[in-house]
Amino acid sequence: MNYNKKTVKDIDVKGKKVLCRCDFNVPQDKKTGAITDDKRIVAALPTIKYLLEQGAAVIACSHLGKPEPSFEKWVKKQTEKGKDPAELTEEKWKKTMAALTLAPVAKRLSELLGQEVIMASDVVGPDAQAKAAALQPGQIMLLENTRFEKGETKNDPAFAKTMADMADVYVSDAFGAVHRAHASTAGVAEYLPAVSGFLIQKELEIIGGALANPKRPLVAILGGSKVSSKIGVINNLLEIADTIIIGGGMAYTFSAAKGGKVGDSLLEADWMDYANEMVEKAAAKGVKLLLPIDTVVADAFDANANHKVVPTGEIPDGWQGLDIGPDTVKLYCDAVKDAGTVIWNGPMGVFEFPAFAKGTEAVAEALSKTKAITIIGGGDSAAAVQQLGYADKMTHISTGGGASLEFMEGKELPGVACLLDA
Ligand code: AMP
Repeated sequence: MNYNKKTVKDIDVKGKKVLCRCDFNVPQDKKTGAITDDKRIVAALPTIKYLLEQGAAVIACSHLGKPEPSFEKWVKKQTEKGKDPAELTEEKWKKTMAALTLAPVAKRLSELLGQEVIMASDVVGPDAQAKAAALQPGQIMLLENTRFEKGETKNDPAFAKTMADMADVYVSDAFGAVHRAHASTAGVAEYLPAVSGFLIQKELEIIGGALANPKRPLVAILGGSKVSSKIGVINNLLEIADTIIIGGGMAYTFSAAKGGKVGDSLLEADWMDYANEMVEKAAAKGVKLLLPIDTVVADAFDANANHKVVPTGEIPDGWQGLDIGPDTVKLYCDAVKDAGTVIWNGPMGVFEFPAFAKGTEAVAEALSKTKAITIIGGGDSAAAVQQLGYADKMTHISTGGGASLEFMEGKELPGVACLLDA
């Protein structure tokens, strides 16, 4: 995939209406609907401010959560979840939809920008159309949740065209959604000149740069719960990295595949052959593949469980591995010391429990001290780094969990592929 894409700086937006896809999929308090973390809105500001300063009229859009725009499908899904169909009224469905309005985002965005954000009550309906038509340079409006429309996730061309027709230019700045071929993330680019905003530009430059032309040695640290969700990444990085470090729950599938005893640890028996294949592939390619040598085991999956350190591969029955052990911590921290680039995706253990967070914390600290370019994939590793206060010590923390994972898998990202090549 070509990561070299035109940006907002490569086009003239003065006096133009710019449809700007942002990632305003913010966490909200379930009861009050209040935004509990506005990081994503803050992250969108540089591009929005730039566009407004250049004299563009900005039509911002985003999805929020997973509304179900078809009442029938909503009933079906809820029934599958065990809800009583008699209670699934149209009124209830409308309420769940209404709870996912972007109005609170418009309010917060307006506070952050210090100017009015005109909120449309629909996505491409009469209100959005009228407000977009009247929008003046330097003004900004926000369309309603794009997923209120059935055509969004289906990437329906007619819906995408209606949305595109409100604007002259498309700016994509929602890195968190570029792995989805939806109407607002990719479809609209069929009808408008499409460029990236600053957020996506940075992700492409740093992650794309590390994948295409890394400062070596390139060390990839992969953790998290399951091998099955990381196979694509392991496979792709085996072609690129000099060292691959495996931690987290997925390490036990590797251990079991080598004949180790894993007790009650997370195990994906179906993936054991694949784990062995990966070990062989690494050896054939001369990639160093590091696996845990010791493990912190617990007698229950519980924050207060009894725990002890045992060699990996010797986990007794009734015990489960919840973190990498101290010798492994040393091995892994040594491996990143002289790295040129480190890519990290997935925690080393159940870091949500303090007793089993030490491995993840040690890796985060080691990364904060290295001179290497440090790239943290979105999701749990980003959360861990932020929680531990190391965020400003990292070169880059990706704003997209799923998107950065697919990027590292070497997959084409539809929301990037649709942008104009530089
Ligand atoms: P993922 O979404 O696949 O990156 O996985 C992240 C989750 O993996 C976190 O919630 C961790 O608690 C979990 N995890 C990491 N190590 C282990 C382990 N040894 N056993 C069970 N879960 C783990």
